[in-house]
Amino acid sequence: MTIFNFSAGPAVLPKEVLQQAAAEMLDWHGSGMSVMEMSHRGKEFMSILEAAQRDFRELLGVPSNYKVLFLQGGAIAENAIIPMNLAHLKGQSATVDYINTGSWSVKSIKEAKRYCDVHVAASSEAQHFAQIPARDTWQLSSNPSYVHICSNETIDGVEFQYTPDIAAETNNAPLIADVSSHILSREMDVSKYGVIYGGAQKNIGPAGLTIVVVREDLLEGGHAMTSCPSAFNWKIVADNDSMYNTPPTYAIYIAGLVFQWLKKQGGVAAMEQRNIAKAALLYDYLDSTDFYQTKIAADSRSRMNVPFFLHDHALNDAFLEGAKERGLLQLKGHKSVGGMRASIYNAMPLEGVQALVTYLKEFEKREQRK
Ligand SMILES: *Cc1c(COP(=O)(O)O)cnc(C)c1O
Repeated sequence: MTIFNFSAGPAVLPKEVLQQAAAEMLDWHGSGMSVMEMSHRGKEFMSILEAAQRDFRELLGVPSNYKVLFLQGGAIAENAIIPMNLAHLKGQSATVDYINTGSWSVKSIKEAKRYCDVHVAASSEAQHFAQIPARDTWQLSSNPSYVHICSNETIDGVEFQYTPDIAAETNNAPLIADVSSHILSREMDVSKYGVIYGGAQKNIGPAGLTIVVVREDLLEGGHAMTSCPSAFNWKIVADNDSMYNTPPTYAIYIAGLVFQWLKKQGGVAAMEQRNIAKAALLYDYLDSTDFYQTKIAADSRSRMNVPFFLHDHALNDAFLEGAKERGLLQLKGHKSVGGMRASIYNAMPLEGVQALVTYLKEFEKREQRK
């Protein structure tokens, strides 16, 4: 039976990548060592790191005036690390602006408040996060140190379909985006952001690797808080080429294999076309029936994470059991939202979404005959 894994994260990886990693597990390229056993400063691992950095930059089109940092700690740690590095960019009394679009924004805001004065410039909480607040309703500060968004809310299933332009109203504050769950799923103009960051375990590789892409001028000026740990001070990490402390070597290796796989698939533009087709297939079916429901406004729907509900919640367990029997795994929704959630990241093939839609139809028919 073919297995399709719809986990929100840690999530499915391309089978070819796992096969290559398995083949190289005991002896990487004749070195006699597993990648896990190598010195992070040795020439073997340095070549792995450099290739991963180069391929990532190429895939995402990262401009030359940006640093790509490979860190540990995940996106939740970055929620603290970001204010520690940038809250004082425009002086110690400056505020920072956050847009609240879902569960991950809520967490980011809560953490940032421990370090600085946070202004929530827009929120869709009262609408149960069913839509990204319209740009013309945002009440941005006139001179914040930065503006933070979560560009794909993994739990709630809303995604920015555009890059908000905030420069004029905010005296050129840098835009910061948590891109954990849709990085490399669509083309992105990195030059419109000051910082993008994310954990790898949604759309890139294993948990343990955190990627931070930061514009170089934001590292200068010595505004990081003195309390910021050196291992999380972006300037120190950048000056040491992500080798200030031991980076998550094996996670970087797997991410590097995923980058090579993505290049073979035709790169981010090709993946985006596939992701559009996958999401359309699923949403179109959900929209065509009353048996299932999506609650997200059409203009804010995530292409990566699709929460949906059975009209009769009493059928949830039977639905999940039947799915599992068909090899459709990890479809249960996040506990804070309920219902179901299908995460359809880059490594989920179109066939997986087709199999899910076939099952949705069959389950509906079966229940209606009862
Ligand atoms: C998963 C996720 C996080 C949290 O990542 P951790 O690795 O657990 O720190 C933060 N933001 C978004 C958007 C996520 O999807």
